[in-house]
Amino acid sequence: MKTSIPEITQKLTRAGVQATLQRVAIAQVLFSEPVHLRADEVYERAQKIFPDLSRATVYNTLRLFRDSGLIRELVVDAKCVIYDSTVSQHFHVFDVDTGMIADIPADGFSLVGTPRLPPEWVTEQIDVIVRVRSRSRQP
Ligand SMILES: [Zn+2]
Repeated sequence: MKTSIPEITQKLTRAGVQATLQRVAIAQVLFSEPVHLRADEVYERAQKIFPDLSRATVYNTLRLFRDSGLIRELVVDAKCVIYDSTVSQHFHVFDVDTGMIADIPADGFSLVGTPRLPPEWVTEQIDVIVRVRSRSRQP
C-alpha cells in the first residue's frame, strides 16, 4: 500500500524534520514503498516529482533523514552507499554480480550476542551484508 503525502508529511514532522516541498518530494521516493536506493537514484526519482531539485539538496536531505532516524545508511563498499527506508533491525543480501540488494527477513537470520566494547562506546547499529552470487556465475 502506498503512503499518502499527508502521511509522509506527518512522518517528517514527527521526526522533527520541517516538511519543505523538496523534502516531501524526496520522502515520497523513499517512503511510498520500502526501497534500497543509491543517492543518485533518489535524485533521479525525486527530480521527476520536483524538477528544480538540486543534487546538493538531495544529499543534504538524505543526511538529515539519516540523522533523524528516518532512513538507514548502508555502506555496501567504498563506491556504493544505499539508503534504506526500512529502519527496523534487519539484514541484507547483496548480489556481487548484479548489485541487487534485498532484505533478509528478521526470522530468517539472527545474531547471537553483541561485541564486547570498551565502556565508553555503545552500539549504534549492526550491519550484516551477505554477499552472494548465482551458482551459475561461480568462477
Ligand atoms: Zn533493507
